Amino acid sequence: MLPTCIRLLPETLVNRIAAGEVIERPAAAVKELVENALDAGAARIAIAIEEGGIARITVRDDGMGISAEDLPLAVARHATSKLGDEHLIRIATLGFRGEALPSIGAAGRLCITSRPRGADHAMTIRVEGGDVADPIPASGPPGTEVSVRDLFFATPARRKFLKSPRIEAEAAEAVVRRLALAAPEVAFRFENDGRVVFDRPGEDLEARIAGLFGANTAEGLIALTAERGPLALSGFAGGAHLTRASAAWQYFIVNRRPVIDPLLRMALRVAYREVIPAGRHPVAVLRLDLPVDEVDVNVHPAKHELRFRDAAGVRALVIGALRAALAAPAGAAPPAQLFTPRFLAERNAAPKGLSEAPAPLEMPAHARPLALPLASPPAVRRLDPHPSPRPEGDAAASAAPASAALDHPLGAPIAQVLDTYILALAPDGALVLIDQHAAHERLTQERLAAEWRAGGVRAQPLLIPAVVEVSAAEAARLLAHAEALARFGLEIEAFGPQAVLVRAMPAVLGTPEPAPLLRDIADELGESGVTTALAARLDAVIARLACHGSIRAGRRLHAAEMAALMREMEATPRAATCSHGRPTYLRLSRAEIERLFGRR
Ligand code: ADP
Ligand code: MG
Repeated sequence: MLPTCIRLLPETLVNRIAAGEVIERPAAAVKELVENALDAGAARIAIAIEEGGIARITVRDDGMGISAEDLPLAVARHATSKLGDEHLIRIATLGFRGEALPSIGAAGRLCITSRPRGADHAMTIRVEGGDVADPIPASGPPGTEVSVRDLFFATPARRKFLKSPRIEAEAAEAVVRRLALAAPEVAFRFENDGRVVFDRPGEDLEARIAGLFGANTAEGLIALTAERGPLALSGFAGGAHLTRASAAWQYFIVNRRPVIDPLLRMALRVAYREVIPAGRHPVAVLRLDLPVDEVDVNVHPAKHELRFRDAAGVRALVIGALRAALAAPAGAAPPAQLFTPRFLAERNAAPKGLSEAPAPLEMPAHARPLALPLASPPAVRRLDPHPSPRPEGDAAASAAPASAALDHPLGAPIAQVLDTYILALAPDGALVLIDQHAAHERLTQERLAAEWRAGGVRAQPLLIPAVVEVSAAEAARLLAHAEALARFGLEIEAFGPQAVLVRAMPAVLGTPEPAPLLRDIADELGESGVTTALAARLDAVIARLACHGSIRAGRRLHAAEMAALMREMEATPRAATCSHGRPTYLRLSRAEIERLFGRR
């Protein structure tokens, strides 16, 4: 028989149990202490940790301080100054449960020294393993310093589950970064084992991002703001070129609270899905501000996850704002300059900070700007600067670099390289290299999508219908979707068990070979299953079609064709990447060229 005597647990034990929930690792204590400093209205916060925060955490602020009478209350359980009434709905401060300080004091050695504004001296209170000592007078500047030594000395079971000091330090740094991004107007200093990791003055969000992420990453970010009813979104999002191997560079701030929210993450993913390659993750710092009763932060003790009253509205706002930001036409922003050797070298260099520093990014094979064949015979065709008389249209778009084409962001074509790339001179003197196939594919895709949206892709009937041999399964799949395919400008009919008859093709595509196109579409349908509506795979189908209607690599282009392609890129949304998320063009600025030659 088990003893059946029921008794109330002693307060110390309750606090130790709670400590395990609220403070599961040093980073959690750091988070609570910095949040308290922010809630106290601090303008400067300095954080220092030793041995991953296990040996020591110190957080100092210049906020309002805690009065002598309130000090014992601050370390008592469920004592908080932040919930005026019984409402758990209108929460504007970061803390409100009143459990952080007692939990930390139960698990480690807590010492709080505080001097409220206007008081002539400070007071100190100590809590060690749950034992609270009486406050004593002390010296100290206005504000509060909280130090925690030997966290978990009183809860050895928890201590065993800690990772190495290095990993705990990384987690703590990640927490401080998140808070520093959420409150850029507050000066933040973070020190790890005596080394200053960052020390930022109060600044705007853009400067804070540059300070924490590095200027190069910050340069690749697009500013955005958008509103929807009471919801306001602002922040910075990476262009399609600025992707990472993990989602660690995505920061969401809701009502000044850093959150890790699945809904927001998903919205970000959806917004970027078409413009970045699978497996890559965008960089973003997004702030959402909304009335406090529109969101419940009390879902999770760490208050990371939220519940939005209007979840659909939040999702629509985030996706819409990001798509609009990403739709900047080619040449408008300088995304491709991010693929320059200097950028890649710096990005791959050892990170300055400790942790969420980016996993080194492999240089994408297609973005190796140094791979110009210097030694091999030049596979470059110079454009004739004095072209022999040509038909009207051609002459109009003649492409001498000195011409008016220089007014355009991508500049004027100079040559075709390897029959695949267009070499151009931008107005600012930068060299631009365009992947003709990738660029044209994107243009075709956008045109197809526009026609589809306008009611249907224009079909070009074939003079002689083409018979395309396919497998019986492919034929069945294609014919099951014949009606939907007609809206894509692709008109087909049954033609025996192992063939289909093609009567018309999308006009935008020119005159592609029908057989490979049909097989590709059949593949696409196979992936989605016969029952899935084609319209649900709209982007995928359009991408497949576009691939067939595009200028191939290896095709020679006239100067006029090159210029026309470039002008269209400048006018087309999302033209800086192809449908697979690869860049369509690269820029080598003067500075980049000088660096390559070691002149800088
Ligand atoms: P909560 O933040 O949920 O209220 P805490 O246990 O973290 O609970 O803190 C208890 C109380 O101590 C706070 O409500 C606040 O009044 C006071 N406090 C804690 N840290 C600070 C600080 N750095 N500056 C001023 N007051 C503080
Ligand atoms: Mg708190």
